[in-house]
Amino acid sequence: PIVIPEKKVANWSYATCAYCSTGCSIELGLDTQGKVITSRGNAKADVNRGKLCIKGLLEHELFDSAGRGKEPLMRSRQHEPLAPAGWDQALDTTAAAIKDIQEKYGRDAFAVVSTGQLLTEEFYTLGKLVRGCIGTNNYDGNTTLCMASAVSGYKRSFGSDGAPGCYDDFEHTQCLMALGSNLPEQHPVIYWRLKEAREKRHFPLIVVDPRVTMFAQMADIHLAITPGTDCVLLNAIMYVIFDGGLEDKAYLERHTQGLEELKQTVLDYDPKTAQHVCGIDEDTIRNVARLYAKAPAAMSIWTMGINQSTHGSDGVVNINNLNLVTGNIGKPGGTSLSITGQCNAMGTREWSSCSGLPGYRALENQADRELIADFWGIDQAFFPAKRGLTETDIFPAIETGEIKGLWLVATNPMTSMANTSRIRKALEKLEFLVVQDSYEDVETNQYAHVYFPASIWAEKEGCFTNTERRVNLTRKAVANYGDSQSDFWIFTQMAKRFTNGDRVPLPETPEGAFEEMKALSRGQGRILDITGMSYDKIEAAAGIQWPYREDGSGEARLYTDGKFQTDNGKARLIGVKFYDNNEKPDRHYPFWLNSGRVVEHFHTRTRTGKIGNCNKFSPIPYMEMNPDTAKSLGIKHQQYVRVISRRSDAVVMVQLTQRVAPDMVFIPFHFHDCVNRLTLGLLDPYSRQPAFKQCAVRIVPV
Ligand code: SF4
Repeated sequence: PIVIPEKKVANWSYATCAYCSTGCSIELGLDTQGKVITSRGNAKADVNRGKLCIKGLLEHELFDSAGRGKEPLMRSRQHEPLAPAGWDQALDTTAAAIKDIQEKYGRDAFAVVSTGQLLTEEFYTLGKLVRGCIGTNNYDGNTTLCMASAVSGYKRSFGSDGAPGCYDDFEHTQCLMALGSNLPEQHPVIYWRLKEAREKRHFPLIVVDPRVTMFAQMADIHLAITPGTDCVLLNAIMYVIFDGGLEDKAYLERHTQGLEELKQTVLDYDPKTAQHVCGIDEDTIRNVARLYAKAPAAMSIWTMGINQSTHGSDGVVNINNLNLVTGNIGKPGGTSLSITGQCNAMGTREWSSCSGLPGYRALENQADRELIADFWGIDQAFFPAKRGLTETDIFPAIETGEIKGLWLVATNPMTSMANTSRIRKALEKLEFLVVQDSYEDVETNQYAHVYFPASIWAEKEGCFTNTERRVNLTRKAVANYGDSQSDFWIFTQMAKRFTNGDRVPLPETPEGAFEEMKALSRGQGRILDITGMSYDKIEAAAGIQWPYREDGSGEARLYTDGKFQTDNGKARLIGVKFYDNNEKPDRHYPFWLNSGRVVEHFHTRTRTGKIGNCNKFSPIPYMEMNPDTAKSLGIKHQQYVRVISRRSDAVVMVQLTQRVAPDMVFIPFHFHDCVNRLTLGLLDPYSRQPAFKQCAVRIVPV
């Protein structure tokens, strides 16, 4: 018999998983030497109830994984070898380079791009450093690649960001429509909760996805939509609802504005016409519309299939439209729930100052600028009155010479951005690049002048906010790796090297930053209220959802009273028209290229690529191809092919499967020098998020 040796755990340390936005509570098991030897799901936590997926189960292997950065590195020119440097030298050199660029070319010639991976206290502190000390307006997060359309759509419909629903809605809903989300692979533990809810009381599951994903295989109805046509499908569904008088008239009357405009818009999308555009037959559209509208509580969830589009923001608005029309906002089981991507994409939205000012405040709002300037102790004239460039606009600005220097914090655009050949050229053009990451072998570091080795996850302390607005804590479990330092420490040390660093004191500890955030969340009518939280309370409850007020009151759902964050308190119904503005297959490039995730990996594999079993089960990129297509091209299973787009090419191994239609191929996005060499990345006009999912390729056997 195989005997599995028992691991001798002396202590358990509290943490929150640092991969996806599900926000699972983890306990890290330490041996008597203080080394983390195992992890397990926290049984007390309502989010995951003791469960973890493969990534969470193996997360403790990250601490001494290959490629970790042990010490700062520097070089004077790209392509020279990086050499070890002390922290003072690396920080002084970086501060001097930032000041030099700003003096020569202007404050905004230096840009900062962070991530959805930092702890919330680190976002807040980085925001204070960038907006209050360095003073550049070109500051963004890689969340522009994943959640920006959801933020923009929520703001346009409801007047504020913040998902109105929660996971408990699975226990109450009577119809669930998932759009562009492969929950079992992207957010496995939420999927397990949904599956349990359906096992208890079966309710219809409708999955809208061009590919037969694992989620689509579990659905009652799979709508294999033509890529990029979700607006057409949703408009046709609303057409049927209005036509049949199935809308919630009382809710619309009391809580919304813009109904007539929406009705006029959807009149152009009768199902008979729509079926030719979105590829879903007329009768199915009618059935889905009736199912959704007649359910006493219906909810929609979505992920990147909606957000990563030239009309991602419109797609989110239209999902909100559908739920407002059917009275499904703010009630148990009735909601528009954006399933977030990264572990702390929500935290960056709430507190980072990337797109605005902390606490859902806007640079465009003078009262907000004054309030933050007073709180931070600087002149409000130091703040710009409008948002600067997003990550997706920063790289073109490097090409044109508008931006000369860049600080990348825990993000890897050499793999994550669309059309990476162009990103490579932009990075080569920079006068100064500083890369801050836990791994020194991250691809983007090839172009760095300075590398800051950062602590990973439970080597430091602070909070993440998950998809359902739940703030959860990670305690420091282990010592720093080598001479690496927490991102928080790096930001506070950098601030000391700027004149404003004396005037804008940065918090001294992560908990100090949390207290500043709490103070900024206080105020009548603020939905983002965390005043009742403390680290100890969060740990005791295994996560607390906001709003959570000083008196301990809070709500699991937003807008339960039908009052929204708009000027008149009514939600906005906004008619969404379909614009056919994507790259599409043609005779030169005859296949749609779709991309997505696999369960074993997270983002650009900076971490999961180092974990034995994650890598073992998913070691190389591959391309799913329909067997009929393969036969017509003379391609066999596991043969290597060259995939060519108008941007570049990549070589991948073929997997034959019926999951993809004959005119589509699918490649997971995690691997370097692969799918994002091919993608086009046209941008959504509101969110500036790229349309990763929609481009055309041709395939040549090699
Ligand atoms: Fe971590 Fe997400 Fe897996 Fe939970 S589902 S363990 S949060 S990766």
